[in-house]
Amino acid sequence: MNLIGLAPDEMIQADIRTLIHPQLSADHLQRVVIVEGHGCTLTGADGTTYLDGSGGLWLAQIGHGRRDMAEVAAAQMQRLEYSTCFWDFTHDRAVELADRLLSIAPANMSAVHFTSGGSEGNDAAIKAARLYHHRRGDHDRTWILSRRGAYHGLTYGGGTATGIGSLLEGQGPHLPHVSHLTAPHSYRRDLFAGQDPTEFCIRELEDRIQQLGPHNIAAMIGEPIMGVAGLITPPPDYWRRVREVLTRHDILLIADEVVTGFGRTGEWFAAPDLCMQPDIIVTAKGITSGYLPMGAVLFSKPIADVLRSGVNGFPVGFTYFGHPVACAVALKNIEILEQENLLDAARDTGQLLHNLAAPLADLSIVGEIRQAGMTLALELVTDPVSRTPFPDAGVAVGRRLRDEFGVLVRVSAGSSLVLSPPFVLTENEATRLIDSIGSLLRQIT
Ligand code: PLP
Repeated sequence: MNLIGLAPDEMIQADIRTLIHPQLSADHLQRVVIVEGHGCTLTGADGTTYLDGSGGLWLAQIGHGRRDMAEVAAAQMQRLEYSTCFWDFTHDRAVELADRLLSIAPANMSAVHFTSGGSEGNDAAIKAARLYHHRRGDHDRTWILSRRGAYHGLTYGGGTATGIGSLLEGQGPHLPHVSHLTAPHSYRRDLFAGQDPTEFCIRELEDRIQQLGPHNIAAMIGEPIMGVAGLITPPPDYWRRVREVLTRHDILLIADEVVTGFGRTGEWFAAPDLCMQPDIIVTAKGITSGYLPMGAVLFSKPIADVLRSGVNGFPVGFTYFGHPVACAVALKNIEILEQENLLDAARDTGQLLHNLAAPLADLSIVGEIRQAGMTLALELVTDPVSRTPFPDAGVAVGRRLRDEFGVLVRVSAGSSLVLSPPFVLTENEATRLIDSIGSLLRQIT
């Protein structure tokens, strides 16, 4: 069937017939068909325009629809659309991008492995951590520590590290030897049995290490700031203390910077400012601002040295490792982020969003406002004293903002309204975003 020229309604019927969407029930028959994007605006097939407060899915750093990105992709396709990086083959764009990534990464990062996205990157990181210990003679170090509510993707590896059980149901045994700890979500004080959240988390970590046996644990994986869980910014001392415990037991630390990397928090990476000091960094999303699928895993030197050893080196990697067009687009994206001072913009406009949203804290539906660079979350509650999560905020707030105000935001973890717009968001657009949220929340409160 030729779909070109379908009317919006026919498009929706064709979608319902032909596509299996991630995380969508067959009962839901509504679709938003997006056909164009420019800057922070997405346009639907029926001509409706939306202000993209989500940056797609936590990306679109440089904004939608840039001609210079398209030109770089077209030029690269004409010169070399594909060549492999398996075995001893390589190409100029992969080498240039690896070098560029290491120039902006924390100083202890020394080598790069390319992927097509974040889940695949977390799989590679978990395999690398286990292999690192194995090749050094520590054959029992297979356990991976993660946190409840974490999102590390939906492959069998990354998906098991993801701490959202409902996403794993009915798919058989997942990755063995993954253990989840409490997330440092200070606002949810019921998680910490009346104790200080950091003290609670550190004690739980120490206890879990003893239960599993320190010599059985390969690594801990964590998002520096948890995104899908509702933008959980950890207490200031959390990562420094976690790192100390892990180092004492020779356990590696994997930072999943799929959301936080490439300027989302106002820096190239979020880990350094949080004193996380990871051994492995997983990136995706913002590396190309979403213009092409791509990810990269960065390794510290001791790990890189071990991964290069052995007959097969690192036996992980897929056909599209270091895809030349994706590499060219990532290089251009990084150039744009730098030349147009978009990390500064992420910091400044993020602060503006926070200032504009601050008065909403007086509404009884707003339990807490959290912000990190160009991300902002409003935790919605039925009552600020009991801190009971607002039920079904996705429908009551997220969908209404979209359908009645033309504003796209993400409702995460059931009750957190999360913004992660492109860094090119203007002052007018920031005002419109927060005004729309404020108007709706005042109606609901
Ligand atoms: N890690 C984090 C922190 C994420 O937020 C996501 C996706 O949202 C992933 C990993 C998975 O990335 P992908 O969907 O590209 O596989």
